[in-house]
Amino acid sequence: MIRISFLILALFITGTAIAQKAQHVIIVTIDGFRPDFYEDTSWHTLHLQELVKEGTHALEVNSVFPSVTYPSHTTIVTGVQPATHGVYYNAVFEPEVSTGKIYWNDSSIHSETIWAAARAKGLKVSSLFWPVSADAPVTYNIPDIGSLGEKVREQYSKPLGFVDSLKQEVFGGADRINYGKDENVGKIAAYVIAKDQPNLMTVHLFSVDHAEHTVGRQGDMVKVAISDADSAVGYIMDALKKAGIWKNTVLIVTGDHGFMDVTHNVDPNVWLKQAGLLNDAKSGDWKAQFNSAGGSTYLYLKDPTDQQTLAQVKALLNGLPDSAKAYFRIVDRAEIGKIGGNPEVALALSGENGASFGNDVSGDAIRPGKGGTHGYFPLDFHGIRTGFIAAGPGIKKGGLITQMSLRDIAPTVAKLLRFPFPSAQGSVPAGLLIK
Ligand SMILES: [Zn+2]
Repeated sequence: MIRISFLILALFITGTAIAQKAQHVIIVTIDGFRPDFYEDTSWHTLHLQELVKEGTHALEVNSVFPSVTYPSHTTIVTGVQPATHGVYYNAVFEPEVSTGKIYWNDSSIHSETIWAAARAKGLKVSSLFWPVSADAPVTYNIPDIGSLGEKVREQYSKPLGFVDSLKQEVFGGADRINYGKDENVGKIAAYVIAKDQPNLMTVHLFSVDHAEHTVGRQGDMVKVAISDADSAVGYIMDALKKAGIWKNTVLIVTGDHGFMDVTHNVDPNVWLKQAGLLNDAKSGDWKAQFNSAGGSTYLYLKDPTDQQTLAQVKALLNGLPDSAKAYFRIVDRAEIGKIGGNPEVALALSGENGASFGNDVSGDAIRPGKGGTHGYFPLDFHGIRTGFIAAGPGIKKGGLITQMSLRDIAPTVAKLLRFPFPSAQGSVPAGLLIK
């Protein structure tokens, strides 16, 4: 009897040891992903809820400053804050002539990525629609550079002929693929899983963000979008099962930021113009200007050492009536430094009471607004925080993480796939892994 129990115990331990080795990690980000999408069953997210049951989820995940898509996604793949990885916004700040330049190429990232580290370990790596991923060291890639045009996106997609194969083999000979529909991204991910079984794949689903910008946190458009994103996760889960790798895959579903409802648009450059500090940026006639990232905005000084102008801007902001000051708080240089935000700016404003920032220099500085936005200081509101679910070998079943940070994801992936990743500033969240 004792001997049989011992044998069962030995088998149990061996079985656990085998099950704990993940061979694949798939990270799916749902842009604008909020914890309530899996906590509140009135959203139609059966696959996410299944993953919550099977694995560990977080009550909230701290984003970065600004809590916007490109800096956040770059933090997910590097484990460091924007000040270190160098991607401060989605679009590059262009003080005088705006050409719409975005951060798009892997070379914009000044810190090691999990793509490169996993590949250096000899692992198969792929990525789909990930921000700042053009030319990333991965096998299959369609970068998130749709704003540069479909031609450019196809030019940077790999391997050669990938998009054509998708059109033929996945989308029935279609001329164009509607990437804006998350289900289609899910189908593309499923195709890559079937073809290549990547050890590491990052997939960005972006339709939920569009819905939340349009209608805010609630509403039918968000309901449809999150349900579509959930279906995409379902396609990925099915593909992993069909490929026979489900049992040794850790599937992570996370996001880049939460969302806040917008009630007012605030254009602080109007105040700078009125004060004579921003006469005409195009001709170079300016001393200070704000650059908006939605829920926050960043003060640039033409001469970064110009303390007089900085004092003038601070006095101007502090002298505004309370009715205007209700829409922002000043984030000073020390606080920006502490959160690892943009090192080039003199100060920032983070929105309060439904404010969303713009860059206009004329008209009313404060006007009614609608829809939703993000970009706020990531620790100010629960609503701006994102979510995290992980399930698979090595991940605790039914586990709960009270709070974590986007920086913690890269070191977690490195630990699961057993490659060194010393540059990460985050750490594996307590309570996530089976000891
Ligand atoms: Zn986003």
